[in-house]
Amino acid sequence: MKKSRRGLLKLTGIGVAGTEIWQPFTIIQGKTSKNNRAIVDSAVATLEDGSVISIPFWRVDSGKDGPSLLLIAAQHGNEVQGAEVARRFKEICANRIRAGSVWLIPMAELRGIRIRRYTVESQPDLRVQDKAFHRSWPGNPDGNDTERIAYTLDQAVVRHCSHAMDMHCWEHVNAAETLAEKDNESSRALGDVTATRFISYRNTSMPKSENMSFSQLVLKRGASFTVMELSGQYQMQERQVLMGLSSMVNIAKLLGMIEGEPEQIKPRVVRTPETSHELHAPDSGIFMPALQRDKKRTLMPEDFVEEGQQIGHIIRESDLVTVPVIAPVSGYMWLYGLCHWGLCDDNLPAQHPYTEEGELIAVIVTEKTP
Ligand SMILES: [Zn+2]
Repeated sequence: MKKSRRGLLKLTGIGVAGTEIWQPFTIIQGKTSKNNRAIVDSAVATLEDGSVISIPFWRVDSGKDGPSLLLIAAQHGNEVQGAEVARRFKEICANRIRAGSVWLIPMAELRGIRIRRYTVESQPDLRVQDKAFHRSWPGNPDGNDTERIAYTLDQAVVRHCSHAMDMHCWEHVNAAETLAEKDNESSRALGDVTATRFISYRNTSMPKSENMSFSQLVLKRGASFTVMELSGQYQMQERQVLMGLSSMVNIAKLLGMIEGEPEQIKPRVVRTPETSHELHAPDSGIFMPALQRDKKRTLMPEDFVEEGQQIGHIIRESDLVTVPVIAPVSGYMWLYGLCHWGLCDDNLPAQHPYTEEGELIAVIVTEKTP
């Protein structure tokens, strides 16, 4: 990489003048200047019973020195939208990268994907965190099957990478958000150029155990990373894919791998406890979402609402009175809709529109006042 990292990092602050509507395709289409080689390879792990599993990945190499950027998607088998982001980013990189190389793992937790669950180890509990794929790094060739797969993926791909995007999906009631590192400067820079409306900051701590999360592994090696949660599990949505793809293009631009400057979403909304305003059901009954201002569809997470705007109503169970649900502040809805006991995307009763009084219906995040 000829340009210094410091010089590249400066680009983060520049951002192209904001347009009202984010148009991802303006940065994705463009002159094809290269035809880099995109290859498919795979990490092959031998499991405890002697069977073999092959996790495929793409690699695009510019043939020139530079960063090695990784996109790892679907570390949880029900969070799959990043697979399409990887597929499209591969096409863009094949035509556009001018430095470094790109590694793309579209289906990291392939066993979880095959059984359509968070992770293979998650039965009967849907989310056994300590055995989850994303906490099995750097893996172990003699460990359990999840550790064996993580080990081969690390050997084949992860250890070669200087920068990483760890792409997940959370429940559909939550808008997409980038979970950025706060104090690690080069990691923070990756998060700052992504294309999600929401961003929040945190610091990853170093692990006490041998097994660690993917983020911890990357950080421990001195590489940079950021995490993204797209909106919606068990599904593929064009808007979410575009947001993920725009984020990857922006990161590649930041790193000098693709020509141009990152094009940023405006306004970027920083989610903190101070900027977040919870809205709870005023009564028990059936919740009906309101129409968006253009009346073409119902409101959804990420929509902007104004203070005093009716965002829905409840048909009260006791006397059938219509009870309006009113936004207490102006801002973007980070959460909107009912998710009764978590993990609602794999559970229809958990998405049932009946709400009890006091249940959380929305979280509206205000823009920071300068
Ligand atoms: Zn996840």
